[in-house]
Amino acid sequence: MSENLKGYKKDAKKFLIEHNLKLWDIIKVETKTTTYEGILLPRYEYSKAGFIEIKLENNYNVGIKVDDITKIEKIGEKEAKYKIPEKDFPKTKGFPEITLLGTGGTVASRLDYTTGAVIPAFSPGELFSAVPELADICNLETEIVFKIFSENMQATHWQQLAHQIETLANSGKDGIIIPHGTDTMGYTSAALSFMLKDLSIPVVVVGSQRSSDRPSSDAAMNLINAATVATSDIAEVTLVMLGSSSHDYGLIHRGTLVRKLHTSYRHTFRTIDDIPMGMVQNRTIRMFTDNYHKKDKKKRETTALTDFEKKIGFIYFYPGLTSEMIHYYIDKGYKGLLLAGTGLGHVATRIYDAIERAIEEDILVLMTSQTLFGFVGMNVYSTGRELLDMGVLPGKNMMPEVGYVKLGWVLGQTDNLEDAKKLLMTNIAGEFLDREIPIAFNYDIDRLLKDNLI
Ligand code: GLU
Repeated sequence: MSENLKGYKKDAKKFLIEHNLKLWDIIKVETKTTTYEGILLPRYEYSKAGFIEIKLENNYNVGIKVDDITKIEKIGEKEAKYKIPEKDFPKTKGFPEITLLGTGGTVASRLDYTTGAVIPAFSPGELFSAVPELADICNLETEIVFKIFSENMQATHWQQLAHQIETLANSGKDGIIIPHGTDTMGYTSAALSFMLKDLSIPVVVVGSQRSSDRPSSDAAMNLINAATVATSDIAEVTLVMLGSSSHDYGLIHRGTLVRKLHTSYRHTFRTIDDIPMGMVQNRTIRMFTDNYHKKDKKKRETTALTDFEKKIGFIYFYPGLTSEMIHYYIDKGYKGLLLAGTGLGHVATRIYDAIERAIEEDILVLMTSQTLFGFVGMNVYSTGRELLDMGVLPGKNMMPEVGYVKLGWVLGQTDNLEDAKKLLMTNIAGEFLDREIPIAFNYDIDRLLKDNLI
């Protein structure tokens, strides 16, 4: 019996045993305030004790405190195994050859009813069964590069992906899809944007906010949209995810300008400081700009420049930040410091001494803003001017995470400080905008389309 109650400990386990319940039983649970019906799920090893977890009919999981339960009864049972049938992915002559490099995350996940975990799984056969429309768009090969949630992604993962993309692009593939956890997808899209010089084919990073075992999953639509963009002429690293609350189209975001902005909504990604590059709906792409690298497999030889300096400190300024926290990075031999400052790019004068020391010791210090939108403007107030005088470099419109990735990449490319500064201030992959774009702040694509503004 205990094996059947995976993840349950102490009181909760005792409670379930007393009531003769096992995993996958359909149960009715009453508390003083509510009644729930659902499937009794296994729990994760580190889940909080004293709770039971059930999957409700609407597919959400809910934890119920055992002490609050006034009545519990079994009303049915659920088949414990869950497997998507495997089918051969069909090939069509003349269709674009796309490779999917799986990394993990929710988009590649389904609920594994034998363990209760949301697990990454993505064979081509499963994919074709789950999203048969993909076979109408391209010939697809899949490779599982990693099976991780994206919070575990590091520079080494970006490097491996970039090398694989270089080989695939130069061997004649038409496009790449990278399913990825959404949490750090913007870091990966920025890193690949910097690392892939003269990219000749589309590289589309895609994710989903809800796993494919849930009816509200966005996985299939995002994959179809990503495949459509992967077969297009956009030879850049883009991120494609649902674009509106009506969930009927995807937006194409430039890899260096995109941010996850909501923990759970499906239209969680937005282009920051600009409007998206375009949209994709019913397998048709509509571009909002002509300013992008066009596919040219014959002329452009993709080169992966993947060296990355790992010793970069990411310092989010806050009212309690003290100099010693910056001295720590200097003492530990860090080579670059990314500052996410306030407003136009400020930090408190009390940490100037530490910043000065960092610069004296040839550490590159780059300023970005916590506001996300807008450019840093370090010539406006004395604080900004003083920081510039010290040698802090202004990160223009770059978001802190993009600044972080760029700093690490630049310091991986050269040991020469002056060259590094120059490279840092050069627009490498569309991360710098020429100017503010007023409609980009809080854009509403539906509205812009309606008013014929895009
Ligand atoms: N935190 C996980 C990840 O980013 C799951 C979330 C997701 O895939 O959206 O990989």
